[in-house]
Amino acid sequence: MRLAILSESPVDEAALKVLVEGVLGAPFHQVQPALRARGWPNVQQILPAVIRHLHFNTRADGVVVVVDADDSVVHTEEHEAPGYFHPQCRLCQLRATYRQTVKRLPPAHGRTRVLRCVGVAVPAIEAWYLCGRDDSVSEAAWLRGQEKGRAPYTRAELKHRVYGTDRPSLPHAIKCALREVQRHRRDVRRLEADFPHGFGALARDLRSWPAGPAGRD
Ligand SMILES: [Zn+2]
Repeated sequence: MRLAILSESPVDEAALKVLVEGVLGAPFHQVQPALRARGWPNVQQILPAVIRHLHFNTRADGVVVVVDADDSVVHTEEHEAPGYFHPQCRLCQLRATYRQTVKRLPPAHGRTRVLRCVGVAVPAIEAWYLCGRDDSVSEAAWLRGQEKGRAPYTRAELKHRVYGTDRPSLPHAIKCALREVQRHRRDVRRLEADFPHGFGALARDLRSWPAGPAGRD
């Protein structure tokens, strides 16, 4: 399996590699997406160019895209209905960008398209890093907070809990993120239970990929 990871920072991408292997149950060959994104909405802006690069210039089987939800609408069960699209949901937006990009591409390198995997961390990827360590952090807790108009925690608080500061250096942030995701490297069920929409969508996308023909090693 060859795949590329596109996210908001090198920290996220290092941690996501471990989590994607946790879902797949096997290591994969990482393909570089050629462009680097810096936060939202930059990820969505460069996604079409990244997909075209992977499709024509590499033998990547798929692309994994993960962004923070921040204060946007949380992707829920009702967004999964056929044809449904919520314009303020980042997961729906990224899926739409993917769909619009791949439908115009001719087959290349023996495949019709680079496969899609999209996840959204609610409200930020540090919430995933805290999973299994801090029971107060979950999608359900965040959704209840949005309903009441009072967030249960801020993104800065989550960063503080993971990195010990809300302005970590890059090497320190990578070290902390990798330390936290070790809990899930062989079993991602807790992450799927606590983050059923944003992480669950990522896991379901990966598992829906066809077990590859020869060459997908
Ligand atoms: Zn959605």
